[in-house]
Amino acid sequence: MARSYDVVVIGAGPAGYVAAIRCAQLGLRTACVDKWINKQGKSALGGTCLNVGCIPSKDLLQASEYYHRLKHQFQAYGIHAKEASIDVPTMIAHKDRIVQGLTDGVATLFRANSIDHIHGHGRLLDSKRVEISDISTGEAKEVVETKHVILASGSVPAQMGEAPLDHERIVDSTGALEFQEVPQRLGIIGAGIIGLEMGSVWCRLGSQVVLLEALDEFLPSVDQQLSKEALRQFKKQGLDIRLGARVVSSRKTKKQVTLNYQDSGGEHELAVDRLIVAVGRRPNTEGLFTPESGVALDERGFIDVDEHCRTNAPGVYAIGDVVRGPMLAHKGSEEGIAVAELIAGSAAHVNYETIPWVIYTEPEIAWVGKTEQALKATVEPYKVGVFPFAANGRARAMEAGVGMVKIIAHAESDRLLGAHIVGPMASELIAEAVVAMEYAASAEDLARTVHAHPTLSEAVHEAALAVDKRAVHRAN
Ligand code: FAD
Ligand code: NAD
Repeated sequence: MARSYDVVVIGAGPAGYVAAIRCAQLGLRTACVDKWINKQGKSALGGTCLNVGCIPSKDLLQASEYYHRLKHQFQAYGIHAKEASIDVPTMIAHKDRIVQGLTDGVATLFRANSIDHIHGHGRLLDSKRVEISDISTGEAKEVVETKHVILASGSVPAQMGEAPLDHERIVDSTGALEFQEVPQRLGIIGAGIIGLEMGSVWCRLGSQVVLLEALDEFLPSVDQQLSKEALRQFKKQGLDIRLGARVVSSRKTKKQVTLNYQDSGGEHELAVDRLIVAVGRRPNTEGLFTPESGVALDERGFIDVDEHCRTNAPGVYAIGDVVRGPMLAHKGSEEGIAVAELIAGSAAHVNYETIPWVIYTEPEIAWVGKTEQALKATVEPYKVGVFPFAANGRARAMEAGVGMVKIIAHAESDRLLGAHIVGPMASELIAEAVVAMEYAASAEDLARTVHAHPTLSEAVHEAALAVDKRAVHRAN
């Protein structure tokens, strides 16, 4: 007899595994099907995020930042380390240990919540049946029955014909986490989030990094005042970011990759030892559902869903990177929780207006809500308060007095419309603005909130004060 569930989740990334846990918490009999095989050849939960995304990239960012500070910044405090060196295989092994610990942790959580982890490729046959096949042979092993299905199959790196991957010299973001030595010359196609984060890692360790970005504008979805400041800082660090650069071809020899690209100045050639292709990600829907299942894709290849993540097929939901919206782990997790609660009969929704973005470079870039350039394109009247970290005591003591906090509020109601931070610990500071916006706070609310001294969060407070030209520690 077929195994039968209340909910079957396909995909155990941060969207799927969180959905499965919430379903189980709500008393639903739950299974989660996942096909991930880690570099040790074993099945692993956690999807892209834990295995080859958020966690390993942040581990390498942390390691490279420690090294860079030790080598270049600690002297300002009188701390000298004559023999500082980097052992790349040990750094990579540390990253692998952290990943293993966290992916094992998800397996423990599944056991604690009595969730069945089914290893294999899941395919939705119809709203009530999911087929599981062996990932190496492709043979169908089992069909499970279910009342509800959550599709959470994530995304995969986009590829480009002009620079096909060989997984040695030309790699995607996964390969960029596995270099066993510091490449002397590193090329990156795409100066987006992955390009900047991975470029920062290897630049701090000593690579000469060139980023070729097709667009003329740097980080167009970031508030322009901040993206300009970030670009200035990245250039100072040695990241060679070339905008308006379109790669037309690549040639590979045993020793190097030669790229041909065009920009407004004509045709150019660039030789590098390693090349990372980081030109975006695409939804992963391969073999995920049958035409009879009723699930449909939108014009960009994402699973078509409504505002409650419902697909066209009754009882079938889709969440995370495989549906519209930002490709961010926390966005997928929130959708997972909301869908679990909807299935259990509660009201639930995700507030897409208050999803924070973070780029974990140095300085970090973080934002929530509307940018000034987006507001300029509307009739919405707004006011802006900016406070620089150079005037923040804690940031100065940390030798991190670069960047700024920018708060945007509605000119009449004073309601917060956006918060933008480039600077130290922006990833943590943005949470305050997210909470404030979630509670529909005004700039005045933030300005009247007591912030501990001396903290980086005082820069958020001062930016809120600056909205009405009453920042204390800078001239208004
Ligand atoms: P995924 O994490 O992609 O998981 C999907 C899972 O489904 C996988 O385990 C896959 O094996 C499985 N699967 C797919 N199809 C099937 C099938 N048919 N049957 C069985 N299993 C299947 N986001 C952030 O918010 N913060 C960050 O700092 C961050 N850093 C990143 C760094 C890198 C280098 C990369 C590549 C991404 C990063 N992201 C980050 C993005 C983040 O990883 C994704 O947004 C997130 O993983 C999406 O979650 P998901 O659950 O939708 O999909
Ligand atoms: P991205 O969209 O952030 O950046 C891709 C960049 O490549 C863009 O600037 C694009 O203009 C450029 N590009 C596209 N085609 C090109 C071409 N042919 N030549 C030169 N440049 C080209 O995508 P990504 O950096 O690959 O990351 C994918 C997604 O993963 C991100 O959008 C984000 O959602 C997620 N992610 C998040 C984090 C984080 O939250 N810190 C970290 C990494 C990845």
